Amino acid sequence: MAFEAGDSTGRVPVPAYVLDFPGLLSFLGEEAVAHGAEIRTGTRVSGPITEGGRVTGVECRGGADRVTADVVVDATGPAAALVDDLGLFDPSGATRAVGKEFEVEGAHEIDDMVFRFDHDIAPGGYAWAFPAGDGVLKAGVCWLDDYYEVEATDPGVPIDAYIDRWLAADDRWTVDRRREAHAGSAYIDSSLGQRVADGLVAVGDAVASINPLLGEGIRPGMKSAKMASDAVIDALDADDTSRDRLEAYERRWKRERGTHWRRQNLVSHLLYGFDADQQRRFVEKMDALSSAQVGRFETYDLTVRDYLSIYPYSVRDLRRIPDLLRRV
Ligand SMILES: Cc1cc2nc3c(=O)[nH]c(=O)nc-3n(C[C@H](O)[C@H](O)[C@H](O)COP(=O)(O)OP(=O)(O)OC[C@H]3O[C@@H](n4cnc5c(N)ncnc54)[C@H](O)[C@@H]3O)c2cc1C
Repeated sequence: MAFEAGDSTGRVPVPAYVLDFPGLLSFLGEEAVAHGAEIRTGTRVSGPITEGGRVTGVECRGGADRVTADVVVDATGPAAALVDDLGLFDPSGATRAVGKEFEVEGAHEIDDMVFRFDHDIAPGGYAWAFPAGDGVLKAGVCWLDDYYEVEATDPGVPIDAYIDRWLAADDRWTVDRRREAHAGSAYIDSSLGQRVADGLVAVGDAVASINPLLGEGIRPGMKSAKMASDAVIDALDADDTSRDRLEAYERRWKRERGTHWRRQNLVSHLLYGFDADQQRRFVEKMDALSSAQVGRFETYDLTVRDYLSIYPYSVRDLRRIPDLLRRV
């Protein structure tokens, strides 16, 4: 991974992979069907069915269809179609992030996954360029709404124009054609909200499992699903799908991810509000991580001491303290 700001680059030697995301989704779907799942595409869930405070199924197509289940899983991403209705997760207490990327055909000469911090290209966020095979690049821009509002000089400019601006300005690639686009949003928080209710578990972005610092969502989302499935299998075996039983999942998530996500949430609020000089010093410090720190960065286990060693201190941080305290 290469972090860039101004003329500075910080390389962090962790193995990183560019997924064929539609291919991954097809693979997961085929695996699920092979294990007995029935997939209904084009079926919009409109809300949970509850009986005596317990979730017993979902309503689809505005109530025209109903599906009942021993345990319901909310995996609807930032739409949070069930947890929102059940009051488990409060998006108003979280920070919203948006992102968009294009697959780009053309020549390029990058081997690293590049993350660029530059408020002109990605106000209040970062831009990325990932090599995606011969003559193909994924290039995108994301930002946190709160910091975009501070850093964007012209709020009327759409996100596509920022991506195009970067594609045109950087001479490490040439663009023959922009093809598929992938866009979406996510809620970033300390991920310590409720993840279970009587008869329901929620996984992935529906409960902000996405890593708050750089927005890696696939690995944490799948991790949350694995933890949830362990608890659900145990609950079904015990014929008890109450919140008390399913809570093993929530406790495990908080134990294994909670502290790190809370810290990284704080660091993300600092990072996306850095000025240009702090962005530059930050990437230079990332270049100087020890091999032990690189290992901890890869597994999201950076310590407070690690953060203090990479933090680009500035007196302007003092002005930001009240806002940071309010957020965390
Ligand atoms: C532009 C962009 C680039 C990204 N790049 C990366 C990356 O490089 N690496 C990475 O790890 N993460 C990346 N992410 C984040 C990652 O995509 C998400 O964190 C991850 O997809 C979350 O998975 P999920 O299954 O929880 O939710 P989603 O992938 O959002 O899936 C939710 C599904 O539920 C469906 N749904 C929603 N509402 C309903 C409803 N009411 N009824 C029925 N179905 C419903 C949706 O259609 C969707 O199919 C990126 C995100 C964006 C927007």
